[in-house]
Amino acid sequence: MREPSASSGPALQGDLLGAEARVAVLLPLPLREAYDYRVPDGMALVPGDVVEVPLGPRRVIGVVWGPGAGTVESGRLKAVVRRFDVPPMTEVGRRFIEWVAAYTMTLPGFVLRMAMSVPSALEPPKPTLAYLRKADAEPPPGFKMTDPRKRVLALLDDTLAGGPPRTPGELAEEAGCGVTVVRGLAEAGLLEPVLLEPTTLGRPPDWARPGPSLSANQEAAAEDLRARVGTGGYSTVLLDGVTGSGKTEVYYEAIATALKQGKQALVLLPEIALSAQWLDRFAKRFGAPPAEWHSELTGAQRRDTWRAIAKGEVPVVVGARSALFLPYPDLGVIVVDEEHDSAYKQEEGAIYHARDMAVARAHLGGLPIVLVSATPSLETKVNADSHRYARIELPSRHGGAVLPDIDLIDLRRDRPPARHWLAPSVRKALTETLAGGEQAMLFLNRRGYAPLTLCRACGHRMQCPNCTAWLVEHRLARKLQCHHCGLQQPLPPSCPSCGEEGTMAACGPGVERIAEEVAELYPDARAAIMASDTLFGPRAIQEMVRKIGDHELDIVIGTQVMAKGHHFPMLTLVGVVDADLGLNGGDLRAAERTYQLLHQVAGRAGRGERPGRVMLQTFMPEHPVMQALAAGDRDGFYQLEAEMRQEAGMPPFGRLAALIVSGEDPTLVDRVAMALGRAAPRGETVHVLGPAPAPLALLRGRHRRRLLLKAPRATQVQPLIADWLSRVEIPPSIRVQIDVDPYSFL
Ligand code: ADP
Ligand code: ZN
Repeated sequence: MREPSASSGPALQGDLLGAEARVAVLLPLPLREAYDYRVPDGMALVPGDVVEVPLGPRRVIGVVWGPGAGTVESGRLKAVVRRFDVPPMTEVGRRFIEWVAAYTMTLPGFVLRMAMSVPSALEPPKPTLAYLRKADAEPPPGFKMTDPRKRVLALLDDTLAGGPPRTPGELAEEAGCGVTVVRGLAEAGLLEPVLLEPTTLGRPPDWARPGPSLSANQEAAAEDLRARVGTGGYSTVLLDGVTGSGKTEVYYEAIATALKQGKQALVLLPEIALSAQWLDRFAKRFGAPPAEWHSELTGAQRRDTWRAIAKGEVPVVVGARSALFLPYPDLGVIVVDEEHDSAYKQEEGAIYHARDMAVARAHLGGLPIVLVSATPSLETKVNADSHRYARIELPSRHGGAVLPDIDLIDLRRDRPPARHWLAPSVRKALTETLAGGEQAMLFLNRRGYAPLTLCRACGHRMQCPNCTAWLVEHRLARKLQCHHCGLQQPLPPSCPSCGEEGTMAACGPGVERIAEEVAELYPDARAAIMASDTLFGPRAIQEMVRKIGDHELDIVIGTQVMAKGHHFPMLTLVGVVDADLGLNGGDLRAAERTYQLLHQVAGRAGRGERPGRVMLQTFMPEHPVMQALAAGDRDGFYQLEAEMRQEAGMPPFGRLAALIVSGEDPTLVDRVAMALGRAAPRGETVHVLGPAPAPLALLRGRHRRRLLLKAPRATQVQPLIADWLSRVEIPPSIRVQIDVDPYSFL
């Protein structure tokens, strides 16, 4: 990734109300440029103002991007309808949208749409109706004082003595009646209506609250961050520390410093829905929760949060990658926790990497950004090694907790019984752990019961009709499911190919199957599965995390949902059922990702007072990833991985960009892919591989072909690709997606 220059893009000056009185308005639509609109008499507009404008028969919301640029001739110029009463989008915010659009080769309007995702937030919130009890009011003749009515009135008794008014919804809920009861009382003249101004977001976090006393190492790290945030200015820092070293406590100090200066702080987490523990911790540290931003928010929460952020009323936002596009007036620091996590890569719509875009945002805004990880991405590691990024290290766990021992279990020798998946040594360790009153976790990054169902008579495999993928058996749900398109169907009673009955067999394990084995081995143990499809929503995840933390479970069987930053003091054994899983498929980052994931899983063990133990079941104990994990030789692994990437000219030493051609008609897809192949840029140092069928050659009914451009690190790939695409005609039924710096090769 290349950092943006703060001076990129045209300067936005000039008298907007000059002779022409026109402005360019960028619309959150897939349009190539901003359109001109006339500024009506009596309206004054500045760049960044959010306005409503006509577009054909519709009215759309847009942002004043600058002075009119002559894109519309005077005769056809339409007038801005109105300006919304919200603070204008900042200059940095607008430059950021342009930068993301240019870098990811997405239309600017499309990026703007991510920033303007909550149109309802532009309108001032409506006051809500609430009631007080009217003093000395008598019910009208014939009005019956039913029990529900009495209960509602009783709830309002304290308003006679100055208590706060209550909304009909609240009253109905507490009195256990419908809102019509409340309305009936109001119509009878027994209640006094009042209009409440909408509630604000609650108390702000208090930066002045003291944090825990930090160890010398932590204090030095915190002091470095405080100084950076205090002085301001762009810098990227890698906060590199082992799991449990107190990285979170340390970056809280950076947040406190930003708040002290009256600025905002943004914390990105890879999967905010899994972050209940983080939120609790933050609230304890700062006496109030941060604002959250993620896909689970209700419409009303999104609206209130967006508006409050724009108005500068929200000091701390914690969110998923989309939180980058919120309208911060004056960000003081950005933290990207678990910066190596692949969840930061948005793979649909505008394809972008939130960590990289966050660095760009910090650069444009002139503020420090902290990238946090125990296993940094190789990109970040190399940037820190070459001093492009600063590095702060926390080499040991806080409070004397030791890192767990990691053993490799060679499945070729230490074999599980047939159609079972836990090796004898792992079973023994589980038994010991349970006997000692401790907790164990079995990790398998595969949902469902079995990844493949086949016919034992004819060998037929159950495959998704829309995707190049097997259907996964989910025994609890009694279904076969496609994990790519969501297709579900019942398990067939007979083979759909040869018609034999009772021949369909499950192959390989998913978490449900491991749970079955655990139940067989330890019928009395309290066991549960933790996977994204067994836990519905953040509440369920939170409840599960609490149960594990409170030791209400003995064995947890989980996917990567469970690997993320949780802190479970009684968890002393982690068994990884299939440590080789991520290495299959062998894409560019397979080894790196496997290392990071297993390291993170291992980091769940022994975080409390009791030491932890990790057992990795593998068929390849000699693989460098396994060797490095067992030896605790992180940097040795990185070095080897870096050498291999350098040798191959692969990221971060070279650059990649992918084109994915897709459509419903495979012949046409092939034709366009071949044409792109022929028109591909060629040079001494620039190569294009493909077209080739994507590993997911069929996805949701669309056929897919890939081309991969490979270039030296210093190459700017965007102009090359723009030129390339301009030389090939793309029919409307064919989509060509551009993925700059691809992370997925499927
Ligand atoms: P990391 O983010 O590096 O995994 P955490 O910040 O989560 O580490 O710290 C691990 C555990 O140690 C947490 O429970 C945290 O509250 C505790 N901890 C870390 N530093 C301190 C400290 N200075 N004083 C008290 N507790 C601490
Ligand atoms: Zn499918």
